[in-house]
Amino acid sequence: MNKILGIIGGGQLGMMLTEAAKQMPEHISEVIVLDPNVNCPAAKAGAKQIVGNFSDKNAIVELSLQSDIITYEIESGDADALMSIKEPITINPSPEILRIVQDKYLQKKFLDENKIPVTDFVPISSEPDLEQKILQFGYPAMLKLRRGAYDGRGNYKIEVPGQIAQGYSRFGSNPVFLEKHVDFLCEISVIGARSTKGEIAVYSPVENIHEENILRMSIAPARITKRVSEQAEQIARKVMNAFQGSGVFGIEMFVTHDERVLVNEIAPRVHNSGHHTLQSSATSQFEQHLRAILGLKLGKTDLLHYAVMSNILGPKDLKGRCESVNLEQTEGVYLKWYKKDEIKPLRKMGHFNVVDINDTRKIDSLISRSDEIRKSISFTMER
Ligand code: ATP
Ligand code: MG
Repeated sequence: MNKILGIIGGGQLGMMLTEAAKQMPEHISEVIVLDPNVNCPAAKAGAKQIVGNFSDKNAIVELSLQSDIITYEIESGDADALMSIKEPITINPSPEILRIVQDKYLQKKFLDENKIPVTDFVPISSEPDLEQKILQFGYPAMLKLRRGAYDGRGNYKIEVPGQIAQGYSRFGSNPVFLEKHVDFLCEISVIGARSTKGEIAVYSPVENIHEENILRMSIAPARITKRVSEQAEQIARKVMNAFQGSGVFGIEMFVTHDERVLVNEIAPRVHNSGHHTLQSSATSQFEQHLRAILGLKLGKTDLLHYAVMSNILGPKDLKGRCESVNLEQTEGVYLKWYKKDEIKPLRKMGHFNVVDINDTRKIDSLISRSDEIRKSISFTMER
């Protein structure tokens, strides 16, 4: 029986989920998204849109009345409102998981209790408390906002005792916690999937390069040893088992100099570092997410071709209505433009994948080709 899929959030992830849903008409008849921006990217891809905030309880109820199954592309949906939605409508991943993940401290605690390796962390209740507890970890240490952070905006690296007061006051009265700083070799992530039937599948780890706290590039496969790669996949399976949720999860990890893998954070949704799967893998992360929440057999996760994904971010000096991007799609270069009307500094406007279609397996040349393309990009503004 085919179903109406409701998605909380209609940005680029909602857009790519909508595109994947359209390829599965025998399972999904329609997609409805809840998003505050009129004519959001998912709506442009053919989803029906309810205009409203992710945290608007009435809008969430409205979405549930029109949908058979609900999922999300952002973590800021109101977990209480979602909890109040009753059978036969299913919500995946479950609101209980969302509640844990939304609070980075509770998330770390949950991972730690499930014996998943994470860096040391403690809750912080006041500035004197911070002064006291930072002594356990030494400098630098990471002060993090518990809720509502993204693109590193909720993080403050305390490098010397003189920065404690400034760091603490930065987040006002919002709850924070402290983390031991990890001197990592590289950052990787694993896209994991678990279906409503309990089947688990994971993709190979990708390496993530951040600039100014925003993901710039994901390299598939990550340039890590087999041992680290196996460790990461094993940890990802453990995470999927611990949460017992259905859907795709993006699991961000640090690789330490002594080849240990620590989980940084989990996103209970499709993830920016999984966009390469659109052209590189047997099943895209978007199709996989839908398969997982529909209870279908999961798709194969094999990496068929090496690939490098680069985000196209708004330049620092550009604001306004943007029509398109100039990027030549030559052999093995695939552009995904999100059709956001407004360009803003560092806003994710699109991405492109450079795919090793001839299977040369030379990851470094894929990286340099991606860098060259990135430098050549220009935007066409609306007149
Ligand atoms: P995003 O939205 O990009 O996932 P976020 O705001 O949720 O980011 P985190 O993922 O916690 O924040 O941190 C952003 C980046 O800061 C990480 O990718 C990593 O580079 C760095 N970072 C975070 N925690 C630590 C840590 N304990 N030690 C060292 N670096 C860290
Ligand atoms: Mg992160």
